[in-house]
Amino acid sequence: MSTDRDIKSTPRGFHCILCDVKLPNLPSLDQHVKGKKHQTLSTVRATRQSQAERGVFVTGVKPDTSEADLADYFQRFGEVAHIVLDKDKVRLKSESLTGQFAIVHFAEPETVQAALSCVEHRMKNLKLKVKPREKKAFKFIHKQKLDPQNLQQVFEQLKPELGELLSVDAQMQFVVERFQLRENEKKARSLFVQLLQEVFVEFFPDSQILPFGSSVNTFGIHACDLDLFLDLENTKMFQARAKSSTEQTGEGMSDDGRSEDSILSDIDLSSASSAEVLELVATILKRCVPSVQRVHVVSTARLPVVKFHHRELNLQGDITINNKLAVRNTRFLQLCTGMENRLRPLVFTIRCWAKQKQLAGNPSGAGPLLNNYALTLLVIFYLQNCDPPVLPTVNHLKDMACEEEECVIEGWNCTFPTQPIAVPPSTNTQNLSTLLAGFFSFYASFDFTSSVISLREGRAIPITDFLCQDEESDMIQDEGPIKAHPTKPKLGPLNLLDPFEVSHNVAANLNERSHRSFQRECQEAHKYCRSLQYQQKSTKGKLWGLVRLLTPQGENSQTRAEQTSISIPFKLASLPETLREQLQTSGEDFWHLWFHKVCSAVEEVLTHVLKCQLTASPCAVFADDSTVAAEEMETSSASLKSSVNDSFDSVGSQSESSPLKPVVGGKRPLSSGSDASVSPQGKKQRLLKKKAKAQLPPWICVLQHLVWAGRRKVRRELMKNTNSQPEGSCLEIESQVTAYIIEKEPELKEPLEFKVLPQMMGGTESTQTVLRLEPVSDRTGVFQDFFHFLHPFLPRMVETLLGKDEGNEK
Ligand code: ATP
Ligand code: MG
Repeated sequence: MSTDRDIKSTPRGFHCILCDVKLPNLPSLDQHVKGKKHQTLSTVRATRQSQAERGVFVTGVKPDTSEADLADYFQRFGEVAHIVLDKDKVRLKSESLTGQFAIVHFAEPETVQAALSCVEHRMKNLKLKVKPREKKAFKFIHKQKLDPQNLQQVFEQLKPELGELLSVDAQMQFVVERFQLRENEKKARSLFVQLLQEVFVEFFPDSQILPFGSSVNTFGIHACDLDLFLDLENTKMFQARAKSSTEQTGEGMSDDGRSEDSILSDIDLSSASSAEVLELVATILKRCVPSVQRVHVVSTARLPVVKFHHRELNLQGDITINNKLAVRNTRFLQLCTGMENRLRPLVFTIRCWAKQKQLAGNPSGAGPLLNNYALTLLVIFYLQNCDPPVLPTVNHLKDMACEEEECVIEGWNCTFPTQPIAVPPSTNTQNLSTLLAGFFSFYASFDFTSSVISLREGRAIPITDFLCQDEESDMIQDEGPIKAHPTKPKLGPLNLLDPFEVSHNVAANLNERSHRSFQRECQEAHKYCRSLQYQQKSTKGKLWGLVRLLTPQGENSQTRAEQTSISIPFKLASLPETLREQLQTSGEDFWHLWFHKVCSAVEEVLTHVLKCQLTASPCAVFADDSTVAAEEMETSSASLKSSVNDSFDSVGSQSESSPLKPVVGGKRPLSSGSDASVSPQGKKQRLLKKKAKAQLPPWICVLQHLVWAGRRKVRRELMKNTNSQPEGSCLEIESQVTAYIIEKEPELKEPLEFKVLPQMMGGTESTQTVLRLEPVSDRTGVFQDFFHFLHPFLPRMVETLLGKDEGNEK
């Protein structure tokens, strides 16, 4: 059934055209061809082909025509096997086909000819037209989960038009025009919100339903979700009044004469939980709002929500309560658009780019990617940092507001001018294409892990300011809350403070991987934006400007360096309190101390856990980065040096000749007076920026055994009678596992010798220790296997070692 035509060989293996599947080699091709999918599709195709050969296409039938009528009529030509009658579909392809149609399948293919050769078909009073069936190539259509925004498909369609435009600026404007919410969509949404308002007010007197998010923040794209806030503040007051009047009169009436509705008598809004109220909201939606389906409460979200779908509008909706801040931050985004008309094209393009590169847009709302709100804030922060700034800081906006515009929500200061006219226009005149390229360049070299982004201040605050913050820190008190709030944001690989609820990290959901992808894609885009292909329309019809920038990519191509390097990111959250305190005392150069702590831990894992023999490299000077390292070390202060060395000594058992001693530290006296004119804040920022690469001499390691082979099994054996612990979470167990392997397994014929070069990255990228590995002697060819084992194992072990409370360390 499967034919050779189905299989095409490609440079990377094979492609099964029938199933649209790529296969890397012959065995996998063989397996695929014998597999269920291919077999089923082959059978379906064969059946369809045979049906097509035995069928005729009939038009001229009427809505009251039955299958029995047709069977009765066509039986005169031969046995009828099956009839497909489509009374609803109207075929508009050609005039002759307009109307209802049927397909008549005969038992034998020869019967088709008999039916076709009849000049006139009259069935009852109907004149039928009979034609041969169209021969269409069988095509397998993937059952895709329907994405209402289906950006990829839309983008594919837009590509030719985009390519025809004359500049990147024009392309960006075009993206806005094609993706933005259409007027009719906006109208439909607004009518639906009105309807909801009418329904909810019946059950929750004086309540208000307010749209927020992309439907109204000016960044909504076609078919985006509808975020709604049900404000029950006034209903609570209504209920309180009704209660007191009941107590006085014995009747459930409020002071304005309205009776307390039955739903309200079931629930006390002042004490009910969000989940309880939302259950009620869900019931109302299900029972009283037409076309609403798939209603359910998600009470585990940061803000519990009722989700629903509107069938006719094909619209996903969310209703939250206690979400006044979101309505306010939506207002803020609207204001930003009003102040600066370059913002919309920038945000649309960057949202589109992030979606195409799978950096933003968590499919079910929750997930490890950026959400569109966070992404928009990143754009605004970048614009605050352009030179001259395109947008003012949130603190500046607060100062521009008048008294009546003062706004405090849940204790957070949310004051800003109502009208954009109150804000002086920016003096920055850069065009859209330059600003877009600037966005990528800005974040390509942004040190995310050691800074916290603050739109309020319009600057990156060093993470050290958050290390051991008091419950109510001065810094945040000054700029934000008027009443007490927990002021510690949840820190992660990307720290982006909400402009109003400044203790909330809006990107706290990001994991290491998604943060790395974001920065890597920014670096890729930055590189591309410097090429002529970005800036100039191709005269040879090549992809240029946004067309290439927005082209989706599969897995990012990793560079060779990454394939043999292991990264250990700076993760503040997993460090013990004692180490945090030490880091805080180290001030802006905390990273230096952290780097040495990591190196000590790496050395311990290599020597004690994996039983490598370690020697310092005879050459302590490194290729390309030595100058940078030297400069870096020279700028570090004397106190830092002593604190590094002190803590350094306390971690491990390094001697004077330890490879962990900084290579070039303190060679030249520090130029102490040079920064005298710089403000402390400016100095801090400069230091943050200045921090670049630092490195230590490499270790040369020798391994005699395959200490990675079969570790899991050995660990299981050793821990049979104890609680199992995840791999890499216990120093003692992992050391025992290695000892066991060394005892039982024979030595390698030739030892594996490899080099590990520790480098500290930061300042122009996220703070991390990168260990570059390189085989020195690998005659038995085991280095790659060892590297694959070490890649996840080493960071886990280092985290375990760093996470140990040093007071309890054995
Ligand atoms: P889209 O729905 O098109 O992805 P959006 O801007 O509506 O974009 P949502 O994730 O639906 O994004 O969020 C809706 C609104 O909720 C945002 O505009 C913002 O006001 C608020 N919001 C979303 N995420 C956060 C967050 N992490 N912290 C604070 N507010 C948030
Ligand atoms: Mg939304």
